Amino acid sequence: MFKLSKNLQSLPPYLFLEIDKAKRKARAEGRDIIDLGIGDPDQPTPGYIIDALDKAAGDPANHRYALDQGMPALRRSIQAWYKRRFDLDFDPETEILPLIGSKEGIAHFPLAFINPGDYSLVPDPCYPPYKGGTILAGGRPYLLPLLESNGFLPDFKKIPPAVLKKAKILYLNYPNNPTSATAGIEFYQQAIEFARRNKIVLVSDLAYSEMGYDGYRAPSVFEFEGAREIAIEFHSLSKTYNMTGWRIGWALGNAALVSALAEVKSNVDSGIFSAIQLAGIAALDGPDEHTQKMCRMYQGRRDALIKGLSSLGWKVSPPKATFYVWIKIPAKTDSIKFAALILEKANLVVTPGIGFGKYGEGYIRMALTVPEERVNEAVVRLKKII
Ligand SMILES: *Cc1c(COP(=O)(O)O)cnc(C)c1O
Repeated sequence: MFKLSKNLQSLPPYLFLEIDKAKRKARAEGRDIIDLGIGDPDQPTPGYIIDALDKAAGDPANHRYALDQGMPALRRSIQAWYKRRFDLDFDPETEILPLIGSKEGIAHFPLAFINPGDYSLVPDPCYPPYKGGTILAGGRPYLLPLLESNGFLPDFKKIPPAVLKKAKILYLNYPNNPTSATAGIEFYQQAIEFARRNKIVLVSDLAYSEMGYDGYRAPSVFEFEGAREIAIEFHSLSKTYNMTGWRIGWALGNAALVSALAEVKSNVDSGIFSAIQLAGIAALDGPDEHTQKMCRMYQGRRDALIKGLSSLGWKVSPPKATFYVWIKIPAKTDSIKFAALILEKANLVVTPGIGFGKYGEGYIRMALTVPEERVNEAVVRLKKII
C-alpha cells in the first residue's frame, strides 16, 4: 500500500536475519550460548558516572530542552580531554559539537554535503552507517576494498577519476571495526594529501581511540599537517566508558564542517538530555585508571582467544586495538554458513564478515565482550567441532 522512497529501498540488505533467528531459537531452547557477536561492552558503566547521572536527574533544571549545541561545560570538558589525550587545541564554541551518540552524527553528516548522484568513498568492510547515511542523503557509496594484503587500508590510487570528480566525503575508521586494523603516520599523511587535492571532506571515526594494547595509542587525524582544513573527527563515550546505551559522543574539527552538521541536526533533533551531559562530563574529567583497567581486561581476553585459536591451527594475529578479532575462515564455505555452523554445533555466536560489506566475505568477527573463562570455553567448544 505504501511505496517506500528510492533511497530507503537502496539501503544494503540486512544479512543477519538467519543468524538472528537461529540465535533466538537457540536461546528459546535454553542452550548455553556464548555471544561473541556484538560490539557492546559487557562491563557496567563506572560508578562515578552513574552517581553523576543520579544527582543530575533529580534536578528540575535538567528536565527541560537542552541547548542544541550542548552545554558549554561539556564542550569545555571535551576540549580539555582532547588536549590531555592528543595535546591539540580546539575551540569549544565553534569546533566541538556534542552528539546523541556518534552514530547519529556520522549518519546525518552526508545530508550536509551530498547531492543526488554524488559519491562517498566508503571502506568495505565497514561500520554500516557510512553507507546508510550516504544513501539516505541521495548519494552513492563508492567502495574502497580493505584487503589483508594492504593491511586493511584503502588504496586511493585505484579510484577512477570520474568517481573522484563527484566524491564529497571520505570515511576512515582506525582503529578499525570490523578488521581491528590500525593506521600509521604515512597512511594518514597520504589520506590528508589525497582529500585536500581532490577537495573531499575527510571523516575520521575514532570510536576505538582508547582501546589499545601492548602500549599502542591510536592517533587523531589532527596530529597530521593539513587535517584541520578538510577533516572532522567523530568520538564516542560508548566503548571507552561502557556507555553504549546512554547515547553521547561528539564531533570535532574544521569549524565549517562542524557548523554544517550542527545545522542539519538542529532540524532533526534537540540537545542531549542535560543529566546525561553532566554524566558525560564526569566520565571525561574522571580518572585515567578506568581506561587502563579496561584495556588490561580486553588484552587478557584477546591473548586467551589468540592462544586458543592458534592451538586450533587458525592463523590470527593479535590486534593492537579495538575489542574485535577478525578471522579468516579456515574452511571452504561462506561467512554466513560458517557462522550458522558454529552456532548450531558449538553454541557460539560470531558475526559473518559479509554483514559489513562484500569485501568482508571470507571472514568472521569475534568480539571480546565476554569474560576470559567464557573465551576459553568458546575455544574448547570450537576444538570439539573442528
Ligand atoms: C561503536 C561504534 C561507534 C560508536 O557509536 P555510538 O553511536 O557513539 O554508540 C562509532 N563507530 C564505530 C566504528 C563503532 O564501532
